[in-house]
Amino acid sequence: MMATTHAFAGLTLVAPIAAVVPEFGVPLAVGALLGGLAPDVDLALEHRRTFHFPVAGLAVAVPTAVLAVTRPSAETVAVAAFAGTAWLHAASDAVGGGPELDPWNNGSDRAVYDHVRGRWVRPRRWIRYDGAPEDAAVAIVLAIPPLVVFDGWLDAVVLGGTAVSIGYALVRRRLVAWTPDWLE
Ligand SMILES: [Zn+2]
Repeated sequence: MMATTHAFAGLTLVAPIAAVVPEFGVPLAVGALLGGLAPDVDLALEHRRTFHFPVAGLAVAVPTAVLAVTRPSAETVAVAAFAGTAWLHAASDAVGGGPELDPWNNGSDRAVYDHVRGRWVRPRRWIRYDGAPEDAAVAIVLAIPPLVVFDGWLDAVVLGGTAVSIGYALVRRRLVAWTPDWLE
């Protein structure tokens, strides 16, 4: 899935909470945005393994959520939103394709690494590859709850991200031809 799909999924996860406690809207949204993007920092390391914790991530997400509920503050709420969204990102990578640049041709049976069982989770390919038409459709649907709940600069971020998602999906398959061999 695209980075924007992950970020919007996190915002959709926290949107109902922000609707109930609007005073925590900004820490919830910032935590969710960063948590949606952070796992893919491992692109430079071992992608979908180093910072992806589809199962073990729950061991952080649940206690931080409990702490946020029992001791609500901007900090505990932001940390819980980050941990919950980073876990959701890793878990939802299992419903996409493999990590290669041209997953529509593929081969790869590695969606995301499960550190608990010590093995790769296979790609379900409900979303065939990042930037697939169905990925853009999911991103657009997941943009709606945050657009309804948040306002101001967050709406601008979501609308900008939606435009980037559509543009990326339109050129996604051509990206392979444009990528120099040494980067593949
Ligand atoms: Zn990922």
